[in-house]
Amino acid sequence: MTTFVLFGGTGDLAKRKIIPALYSAFVNGRLATDFQFIGAAREALSDEVFRARVTNAIETYAKLANGTPEQLAAFLALTSYSKIDARAPADFDALKSRIGTIGNESNASSLFYLAVGPDIFIPVVEQLSKHGLVEGNARVVVEKPLGRDAKSAKEINQALRSYLRENQIYRIDHYLGKEMVQNLLALRFANSFLEPLWNRKWIQDVQISIAEQVGVETRGDFYDKTGALRDMVQNHLLQLVSIVAMEPPVNANPDAIRDEKVKVLRALHKFTPDEVSKKTVRGQYRAGAVDGKPVISYQNEAGVPPSSRAETFVAIRAEIDNWRWGGVPFYLRTGKRMASRCAEITINFKPIPYSIFGKGQGPLRSNRLVITLQPEESVQLFMKAKEPGEGIRLSDVALNLDFAEASSSRRVESYERLLLDALHGDLTLFVRDDELGAAWEWIDPIMHAWENDSEGLKSYIAGSWGPAAASYLLAQHGTAWGEEYVES
Ligand code: NAP
Repeated sequence: MTTFVLFGGTGDLAKRKIIPALYSAFVNGRLATDFQFIGAAREALSDEVFRARVTNAIETYAKLANGTPEQLAAFLALTSYSKIDARAPADFDALKSRIGTIGNESNASSLFYLAVGPDIFIPVVEQLSKHGLVEGNARVVVEKPLGRDAKSAKEINQALRSYLRENQIYRIDHYLGKEMVQNLLALRFANSFLEPLWNRKWIQDVQISIAEQVGVETRGDFYDKTGALRDMVQNHLLQLVSIVAMEPPVNANPDAIRDEKVKVLRALHKFTPDEVSKKTVRGQYRAGAVDGKPVISYQNEAGVPPSSRAETFVAIRAEIDNWRWGGVPFYLRTGKRMASRCAEITINFKPIPYSIFGKGQGPLRSNRLVITLQPEESVQLFMKAKEPGEGIRLSDVALNLDFAEASSSRRVESYERLLLDALHGDLTLFVRDDELGAAWEWIDPIMHAWENDSEGLKSYIAGSWGPAAASYLLAQHGTAWGEEYVES
């Protein structure tokens, strides 16, 4: 029997992401036949009421799963609810008897997904351990945020490790579940022509942007205590950096890959306070318009104090101190209420040493590889080619890898992929404790410098690409963000 227990089963994340992902896996025949799903939270709900909520979540957020009414009924038959307050040890007795024979069957396994606030992780894991529920094959998935700084992340990791082995802990970063992130591994390590170019000799800079059009939605209170640096840079952006910049692992096993990723995170150049002021930009959005619709300022969002200093935008010129990347800037950027929604990695190659085509052509933008994760997935290699017609006039032509056309396989959303990996015990796309620690250690000096600098927060108009200072961060080095680049 495989048991999936969702703590926080009545919460926002459960409703929007986890339950739809689980249902999609079920509809596509990816769950074991002897599977049960138990939702858990403090609210007193009957199984029937919980099933009604699950139905609602599926009807609203799992349209792409295309399940039939019979499949929905079959999924609901596997679904039940357990009222549990994480801080009430006796509540776990009922869970234990519901899980039943776990630990007695040789092939029994259980996955506990903690979609609850981080303050509840340890009470839950402690009770699971005391009730004998995390022995054998049991695994625990923990959601971000894992800590607020290096110290608190270390404390959470140590506490988790006092009840669980490291290989039972699945720290989720849903960016790692995106098809294109894994494709990046394939692109880099299954093709021969890129590797010789993938270094400081041929690469001018790397740009990674995750831009959102949404504001803080219903999570203003949470966001204001977190900010973009903790919410996006510490996890998603640094995970993408580590995959772009890692050395070839000895094989594709989870620890071989994670061994190489952590080396990149450790090699990130840690900023002095002076470097923080020169190499980072933080901003907060004012009222503006997104997609032609007026939107309010961050400080007027529900749950946000009117005098908030939280950053909703970050841009950083990061550097990796090693032989492959020494001197190559990694420009990282993320923000809310940006001009468009996109997640993109651009590898800008060095310019040609000399142009034989004369001045009439203007400066040539060098070759670039653009890996788009969102809204659509694609890889484009921009080359120069001659425009048809008389004389030689050069223009950019993209060699396009269109995955939707190239493969008829079903697209698997990141939460579904990661859930299935956790159910199958594959840790490759989950973050190891040392990766988490190294990421926080790089973030800490930036956070501390910002705390001591009351002037540094810039404002930007909602619906723009962030504060002007973010453009200057690149312009002073003679370059520009992708959308700003004007070919003369
Ligand atoms: P939420 O909507 O506030 O849901 C919290 C869930 O935890 C509810 O089901 C709540 O139900 C349950 N809960 C709270 N205290 C509990 C306790 N003492 N014992 C047992 N259950 C308890 O929060 P959320 O947005 O789903 O976020 C959950 C976690 O995922 C957070 O760590 C968040 O940072 C992370 N996360 C969320 C998102 C997102 O988009 N929502 C994205 C990434 C990460 P009861 O109140 O009935 O107990």
